[in-house]
Amino acid sequence: MADVAHDGEKVLRGIPVSAGVCRGKILVLDRPDDTSIPRRELSEAELPGQLRRFEQALTETRHQILEVQGKVSQGMGAQDASIFDAHLLVLEDPTLIDEVTKFIHREKVTAEYAFHQVAEKYSATLAAIADEYLRERAADMRDVSERILQNLLGRREGIDLRHLQEPCIIISHDLTPSRTAVLDKKMVLGFATDVGSKTSHTAIMARSLRIPAIVGLGDASRQLHTGQYALLDGYNGQLVLNPTDQTLFEYGQLVRKQVSLEEKLRDAYDQPAVTLDGVRFTLSANIEQAADAEAVLASGAEGVGLFRTEYLFINRDSLPTEEEQYQAYRQIATALKPSAVIIRTLDLGGDKFLSHLQIPQEMNPFLGWRAIRYCLQEKEIFRHQLRAILRAAVEGNIKLMYPMISGLDELNQANALVETCRAELRAEGIPCAAQLEIGAMIEIPSAVLAADALAKRVKFFSIGTNDLIQYTLAVDRLNEKIAHLYEPTHPAIVRLIKMTADAGRARGIWTGVCGEMAGEPVLTPLLLGLGVDELSAAPSLVPRIKHLIRRLKFSDCKELAAFALKSESAAEILARSEQLARRSAPGLFENETKK
Ligand code: PEP
Ligand code: MG
Repeated sequence: MADVAHDGEKVLRGIPVSAGVCRGKILVLDRPDDTSIPRRELSEAELPGQLRRFEQALTETRHQILEVQGKVSQGMGAQDASIFDAHLLVLEDPTLIDEVTKFIHREKVTAEYAFHQVAEKYSATLAAIADEYLRERAADMRDVSERILQNLLGRREGIDLRHLQEPCIIISHDLTPSRTAVLDKKMVLGFATDVGSKTSHTAIMARSLRIPAIVGLGDASRQLHTGQYALLDGYNGQLVLNPTDQTLFEYGQLVRKQVSLEEKLRDAYDQPAVTLDGVRFTLSANIEQAADAEAVLASGAEGVGLFRTEYLFINRDSLPTEEEQYQAYRQIATALKPSAVIIRTLDLGGDKFLSHLQIPQEMNPFLGWRAIRYCLQEKEIFRHQLRAILRAAVEGNIKLMYPMISGLDELNQANALVETCRAELRAEGIPCAAQLEIGAMIEIPSAVLAADALAKRVKFFSIGTNDLIQYTLAVDRLNEKIAHLYEPTHPAIVRLIKMTADAGRARGIWTGVCGEMAGEPVLTPLLLGLGVDELSAAPSLVPRIKHLIRRLKFSDCKELAAFALKSESAAEILARSEQLARRSAPGLFENETKK
């Protein structure tokens, strides 16, 4: 939605996902489907040149695929690398080559135009066939054609966001978590995307990097042009084009108020997260890389409640070795000692993929080959990670947790592998932790229903509300079109959180929340009242949550939770929790809008 004022100022509204205000020139990234290739008529004399270009593009593509295949083979083994054999076969397909050659001669057009036309026809025909094997060949065909086309057009992987020349606000149709992870904070003032949601890993990464961001802006990437001047408001989800002096002045005031609030929040930096009536909670931080230790310490968190280790694996040419992982885990554990660091084992899949490895395309990636499911099949990768964690745990207060546990079987299999790794390390004479506390993420409804059985076998639960909400309500956490249905205070979610905390308490283990709900001040009273013992949020959000906890009465939170457990309305539960939060710490909320 856009509002245009008389003076040329224009406001686009989306979903705010990472706080902060920035202003500057915008840089619009290409949409992935912006490969429209114009038809250009050529003379007869130009055709041999086009055939040569086509051959060169095939050769270049072949070299690239062989290179990737070699790297994957080194890192993951020959079996995984064999998927590229199918890609190489596409390059040698005589019918395809023949058709493109004839098309160039017959229509007198460029190699890219001819190839694009033929490849599209091939892919469409294969995709429409009922046979699963042939449908998969359509995906191979698309992958390879994309590469050939990029080579014919002389394009590389798009703009390299690691090496931008000047500070800018990035506008893009979408940004993958792996692309977001490499954004250079000095050059990327903020970003806005057409699609996305608050709990996507792209949004989570933006908060972690403290880059102001907005998602769900509709078709901003089509409307806007590189070089336009804009102000991005990550508090309220507004992108203001050509801001007037008055707007800039108002935003200047908003930023000043936020800075002074943050300074005030620092007062409680070394204070515990204890309610007015003396109930103590643990407040931890979520991190994506070992280098985040400084941010954790500066936030006043009591340790790390969730270390998302997948970012050690993505954006690189080969998998991290056991030694590299050991160094990373050791680094964070020693920096934060004696506080706990909960390392979550690899959660690849869903919206996070290794950029160098082609994980098969899935119809429902969030329901597919993800997290513990991936690790229990790719045992070598899992084994290296578990060994690195066991070794690092000698040097600090490390705990381990598994993502996406759906039932007892996966937990038992994973625990058995930990024991095998420990035995191996001992046999090799390598120091490793004799005791390591292991917990399970509770983020699938079946895990809540099996929580009593799981609780007997773990030392803690950590509720991943981002996934628990999407799986319970059947609402894709990435899809802005159904973001209104993604309701953290849905009565079903409230009950599942309570059931988990109760099951944990009955077995004497603690329960935390490490999903994005834990960083939402308006939901803090509800979570505390439902019986969770720990909250873990992005370091930038920790001071707010602590400030609020120290102004809440646990008895009020319990009353609120009792009300919520009887309520039939998500809106009503949210309103009551928000009311309690605002009443208890009004100062936290008064600076959100510019006026
Ligand atoms: C969650 O699902 O709430 C969670 C913390 O894990 P992730 O966001 O990485 O899926
Ligand atoms: Mg999750």
